[in-house]
Amino acid sequence: MVIKLKCVDCGREFEPFVVRYMCDCGGTLDVVHDLNVLRKIDLKRLFDERWGTRQKPYNSGVWRYKELIFPVEEQYIVSKPEGNTNLYEAGKAGEYAGLKNFLLKHEGENPTCSFKDRGMTCGITAAHRMGAKIVACASTGNTSASMAAYAACAGMIGIVFIPEGKIAYGKLTQALAYGGKTLQIKGDFDDAMTLVQEVCDKLNIYLLNSINPYRIEGQKAIGFEILQQLNWEVPDWFILPGGNLGNNTALSKGLMELYELGIITRKPRIAVIQATGANPLYKMWKNKTPYQRVPNAETIATAIKIGNPVSWKKSLRGIEWSNGVVEEVTDQEIMDAKAWVDASGIGAEPASCATVAGAKKLVEKGIMHPEEKVVGILTGHLLKDPDATVNYHKSALQERGIASHFANAPVQIESTLEAVKKQISSLIS
Ligand SMILES: *Cc1c(COP(=O)(O)O)cnc(C)c1O
Ligand SMILES: [Zn+2]
Repeated sequence: MVIKLKCVDCGREFEPFVVRYMCDCGGTLDVVHDLNVLRKIDLKRLFDERWGTRQKPYNSGVWRYKELIFPVEEQYIVSKPEGNTNLYEAGKAGEYAGLKNFLLKHEGENPTCSFKDRGMTCGITAAHRMGAKIVACASTGNTSASMAAYAACAGMIGIVFIPEGKIAYGKLTQALAYGGKTLQIKGDFDDAMTLVQEVCDKLNIYLLNSINPYRIEGQKAIGFEILQQLNWEVPDWFILPGGNLGNNTALSKGLMELYELGIITRKPRIAVIQATGANPLYKMWKNKTPYQRVPNAETIATAIKIGNPVSWKKSLRGIEWSNGVVEEVTDQEIMDAKAWVDASGIGAEPASCATVAGAKKLVEKGIMHPEEKVVGILTGHLLKDPDATVNYHKSALQERGIASHFANAPVQIESTLEAVKKQISSLIS
């Protein structure tokens, strides 16, 4: 096996297939690849040869990059397959952000409609390889949807811990429908996270939160696939939302490895966007203060409503490496940006649109330049959170202090031709 696990803090190394998510010192773990072995393979050519193949598992947008993600024996791989998502021109959302060269990678086009599937295929595969029968996660929604689906495919029992009453409807729907044993706990995401770690530890259940190092490996494929879609030409920026901070950790880890291998020769900059009510990384970054959790995190973007992200330390590594930045956006900015992402015909859930809101802000601050090539990651599908969208368009978010600047409200009319004509003429005038 050419991989091992390594503690981010003290450097201690562990065998890859032992059930362990943290070092004894409390540090999180990385999967470390033997780059000297990988250097002997023409990876770029191998990945390009697999592009568009119908052969399993290389038809997956994760397992296409297997050597650099998770070199595991093929019989253990559980893949739906995932990835192969579109990279769109941002259209009106680009104009809104003030960028001329803005692309949006739509990770909501994964099998369970969020990027979490990319990590989950690796996490479940690791579980399978280690002989796990029961898997669990705490989730703001998308991880549970993804885990429930992959557990179903793998014939495992999936147990989902969700914060009570705080999960978007589309996501809860999926967890229940795929057969996840769904436990709503009294408390927020951070409480659920603490509990699930204890449960997995004591009850011999395999933990599939993003603290799981294999999930991070799978998520690296977002960056690999974007680069491949761009013929391996590195954009000036990647921009994405940050909640538990696993995704930006993964993106930058993958880019760092490509850079070390000489597959890319230029570093992009990485911008991580947090919601103002759930912004521990931003605070730390801006004020140059030590890490501190944000109690009672709050934002309409439930996927990033996390006050105590498990991957904050790993995440900083990549931001520093890439000369990146951390920014924050308000719920108002998120929902207004979302209106434009949606109106571009692309559409995404609120957390995803922190990407576009953040780009707009960085352009306004002169940190991002209008001509630069920017790739934004849309992390989840529009239909994940129908309530947020409908309430915005019905101007029903005032309670949360959100005005509906770009509302497209449904209009009630008489059922007559005249009434319809009136509505249509007001559209074209
Ligand atoms: C999980 C998730 C995020 C946050 O990703 P992290 O890795 O936790 O930073 C953002 N958007 C959506 C839609 C998600 O599901
Ligand atoms: Zn350690």
